[in-house]
Amino acid sequence: MKDEYLKLNEFMEQSGKTVAVTGAGISYLYGMRRLKQSVGMLNSRRVFSKSYISKNPEEFYAVMWDAFLYATFVKGPSTVHKQLVELERRGQIFGIVTQNMDCLHTVAGSKNVAEFQGSFADNICINCQSRSYDYNVWNQGHMPRCEKCGAPIMPTSFYTESNIRDAVLRTAMQKAIDMIAEADLAIIIGTTGFRSEEYMSRIRPNARIVQINPSETKFDAAADLNIRANAADVLDAVMNHTEEG
Ligand SMILES: [Zn+2]
Repeated sequence: MKDEYLKLNEFMEQSGKTVAVTGAGISYLYGMRRLKQSVGMLNSRRVFSKSYISKNPEEFYAVMWDAFLYATFVKGPSTVHKQLVELERRGQIFGIVTQNMDCLHTVAGSKNVAEFQGSFADNICINCQSRSYDYNVWNQGHMPRCEKCGAPIMPTSFYTESNIRDAVLRTAMQKAIDMIAEADLAIIIGTTGFRSEEYMSRIRPNARIVQINPSETKFDAAADLNIRANAADVLDAVMNHTEEG
C-alpha cells in the first residue's frame, strides 16, 4: 500500500472517533453532472418560490428530477457512499457531515448523517405549512402533495418565504458542528468546502484532518495529510488492508 494510504490507515486506527465530511464530488462521480446545469436554471428562473410552484408544480418536479432525484432514484449511491456505510458498520467512522442534499448517504444505508444544507427528505406544504419527512414522496413520477390540504409540497430548506427554513438550517448546521467537535479525525472527501468555516472551526485543536481529493481545495493548508487520488480507490485500499490486518 502507498505510504500516504498507510498513514491514513494509521490515523484511523489511532482515532477513537472519526467523522467523514463529504460534498458534491462523491455524487458528481455518479451522474450528477446534470446538477450544474439545473442549478443555473433554478437561479435564473427563481423556481424555488411559492408562486412559481403553485402555478407550475409539474415543471418544478421536472427541475427537481434533473437536479437531485435522477441521481438518487435512478443512479443510486456511488462506490464511496457504499464504502462509508461499511466503515460505519465496522465502527471506523461514527458519522458523516455532508453538504449534499441528495439523500444518497441515507439511501445507501448510512445511519448518522448531518446534512447541513437540509435535504429533500424534509418537506413543507406551500399552503398550510404542514411538515413531512420522507424522501420517497419524490419518487412517484409526479409532484408530491400535502396529505392535509392537497397543495404542492417543497423541500423546507428551499422555502424562503418563512423563517421555518432558517430554524431548520440552523438545527442542521448545529448537528454538523456537534459531530465535528466530537471527532479525533475528520476525513474530507470530494468537497471544496462550501460553508466549511462554520463547522471546521469547531474541530478540536489536536484532532487530525485528512483530505482525499484529486485537486487542491481550501482544506489543503489545514490538513495533516492530503491524498491526491480518487476516494473510492483510497478507501478500497484502506478497507482491504484493515480486513487483512
Ligand atoms: Zn397543506
